Amino acid sequence: VSRFEGITMAPPDPILGVSEAFKADNHELKLNLGVGAYRTEELQPYVLDVVKKADKLLLEKGENREYLPIEGLAAFNKVTAELLFGVDNPVIRQQRVATVQGLSGTGSLRLAAALIERYFPGAKVLISSPTWGNHKNIFNDARAPWSEYRYYDPKTVGLDFEGMIADIKAAPEGSFILLHGCAHNPTGIDPTPEEWRVIADVIQEKNHIPFFDIAYQGFASGSLDTDAASVRMFVARGMEVIAAQSYSKNLGLYAERIGAINVVCSSPEAAARIARPMYSNPPVHGARIVANIVGDSALFKEWNAEMEMMAGRIKNVRHKLFDSLSSKDKSGKDWSFVLKQIGMFSFTGLNKAQCDNMTNKWHVYMTKDGRISLAGLSLAKCEYLADAIIDSYH
Ligand code: PMP
Repeated sequence: VSRFEGITMAPPDPILGVSEAFKADNHELKLNLGVGAYRTEELQPYVLDVVKKADKLLLEKGENREYLPIEGLAAFNKVTAELLFGVDNPVIRQQRVATVQGLSGTGSLRLAAALIERYFPGAKVLISSPTWGNHKNIFNDARAPWSEYRYYDPKTVGLDFEGMIADIKAAPEGSFILLHGCAHNPTGIDPTPEEWRVIADVIQEKNHIPFFDIAYQGFASGSLDTDAASVRMFVARGMEVIAAQSYSKNLGLYAERIGAINVVCSSPEAAARIARPMYSNPPVHGARIVANIVGDSALFKEWNAEMEMMAGRIKNVRHKLFDSLSSKDKSGKDWSFVLKQIGMFSFTGLNKAQCDNMTNKWHVYMTKDGRISLAGLSLAKCEYLADAIIDSYH
């Protein structure tokens, strides 16, 4: 018998598992709306032109592949913090942001979770209900205790703002409140600027620490600054903030695993101390791509234009889906929630049995919480999807 026998298989990942099932389906109309990855109108993966350019420049430069420092590439850390907080932000000018390059959003969140577990023993992390599926895994893995705050109201397919505020108020003083900086995953429902202000009030009152997960900066509205407004508002109030960034979506660098963890008003040593025994130092390629694009005004402009194009395509699909649903559905149901949502996803409000119908009858692959990725949808497929949703609802 193997001494490794006691190691059980991890349960299949609910999102990655959807792609596996999609691959196994041979139906010609099949649609993969599970994974949150940008596709072209032809439903093909997309490498940004600006990334291809940066890659070419890097190849020409022929830099060495020596180890990076534990905290990552200095040029990357500088620009990534500037991108999030804004170059002119006092916390940037006063060098009050400690940035450590992480293994994309997930690895950066995992570092933050380890930091919380080690330096804030017993402190609770509050996550939204629902949230991105991996949040719970990350905090479980780090042994950082977590609980949920209300977020989604199924009656309105909107924000349960009162529930959210009440739960944040009720959390033990000094808790970490995990917030999606923009384009909440999976609901696509963001607080309004006024609601953000009230959330900041309560967090401040209770001496909580805001902990942002911002995986879609520039991808939600098409503007990097607009999408970072929530984070910047908290920082402008003088609060200490943790923020995990990802370049998977906005630069299409999914597999390069490039992101960062920022701590406003703290020392970088703590996070670097955690990284050394975990993986020593992060990979260099994605960091160089980001540093070159964000640090060069011509490439930066090009990136912004491509990001606007991607965000624009998703918005067009959102509108077309809404139009198709509204014109095809004769039941009088109000579909306007589709338009109110933002970012890559739409939360349809379909329950598990209805999601099963979507997949089994219509070959539409999606997570069982009713979330669909609009980035995996084309204008040409909106009518088909609307038929599937209406059939599954009624
Ligand atoms: N946070 C949220 C809310 C996400 O949606 C994602 C991507 N699905 C991530 C973090 C992390 O992704 P990655 O590790 O590829 O940066």
